Amino acid sequence: MKQESKHIPSNKVKYVIVLIVVSACFVFGFQFGAKYRAIHYNALLVDTHNDVVQRILGGEDISFRTLHGHSDLPRFIEGGVDVQMFSIWVPPEKKKPSYYAQANEQIDSIMSFVKRNPEQTGFARTANEAVSIALKDKLAAMLGMEGGHPIDNDLKKLEHFYKRGVRYMTLTWNNSTEWATSAKDETDTTLKLKHKGLTEFGKKVVQKMNELGMMVDVSHVGEQTFWDVMSVSKKPVIASHSDAWALRQHRRNLKDDQIKAIAKSGGVVFINFAPWFIDSTYGAKEDELHERYKHQIDSLKKANKGNEWLHDFLVFEFLFKEYLPIRPPLSMVIDHIDYVAKLVGVDYVGIGSDFDGISSVPGELDDVSCFPNITRELLNRGYSEEDVKKILGENFFRVLRDVEGK
Ligand SMILES: [Zn+2]
Repeated sequence: MKQESKHIPSNKVKYVIVLIVVSACFVFGFQFGAKYRAIHYNALLVDTHNDVVQRILGGEDISFRTLHGHSDLPRFIEGGVDVQMFSIWVPPEKKKPSYYAQANEQIDSIMSFVKRNPEQTGFARTANEAVSIALKDKLAAMLGMEGGHPIDNDLKKLEHFYKRGVRYMTLTWNNSTEWATSAKDETDTTLKLKHKGLTEFGKKVVQKMNELGMMVDVSHVGEQTFWDVMSVSKKPVIASHSDAWALRQHRRNLKDDQIKAIAKSGGVVFINFAPWFIDSTYGAKEDELHERYKHQIDSLKKANKGNEWLHDFLVFEFLFKEYLPIRPPLSMVIDHIDYVAKLVGVDYVGIGSDFDGISSVPGELDDVSCFPNITRELLNRGYSEEDVKKILGENFFRVLRDVEGK
């Protein structure tokens, strides 16, 4: 007993050990906290997909801190966002004014936002312009178009959007165009599709995008369209906001061979934060929650008739406490980044949040101000500073420059 007790520290010694451990943890934690934030704010952070334009159309001015949603200028600055690709998305069911006119109106709204905030933002058409705006500590606003329907089957209109600054086009949204089929339609067995994949005109669209220097985006497209794009495109192809099928079998996510093909083209998979796409258990939990609060949700819907966009956010805010236990943790987003990085390499993965296009969000990713948490978790997983910088923005600039032909 005596001998054994020799090895047991006295209470005083125990306190000293505990104090040393706690102090070391505190100092390490403090240093790590300072370190990850320094790395984050020094890196160029690019997010390739944000739908806040829909809230701007609903009358919100994101120059100021807003009450709803995920994005506004003060929060972009807090999150260390350097380049935001704003999504131009026209709902397919809204046919008047024309898709083309609506897309132009959305571009006007971003131009007007930039003009109103010249000290804090700038509009970028090229990688070099984006970097120079970011180096002045401003948010570089860039444009991506989600869905090819606004080009009205007309290559001149595609060129028009390029001239206005659109630097990627997702060939389809959930709706197919006359020249490309979507993942939703290709997987809907009740539909009798007139064609599957890219038509001859669809191939011309991809060729024209290559020629102009507009990134071809395959998020939302069906698998047949995907492989047709891969056989036609001479330039790197991106997925602006998709995740890994291997971790969550959803039609919006990419299978391993698709991820490999994107990497082989020199492109990048930008990881989406949507809980439905990252967590296979989430959908059922949300359905159950909505069923439980059906009356309240229906009454919110009535009160906000005509603004379905806001409705989803209000439901999330109203049921926020209920969402806390069901939403996936930040670590599941990192799992998708990690999966792609391990499958094809850290040069082929980036961030395409889908903020303001999704109402519910994962833990620790409440809005655009939370991007530093991504950096912290990547470092915690053992990614080097160099790798983190690639994921946050350098991979994006590489692919954009390749597509620009510079
Ligand atoms: Zn989308």
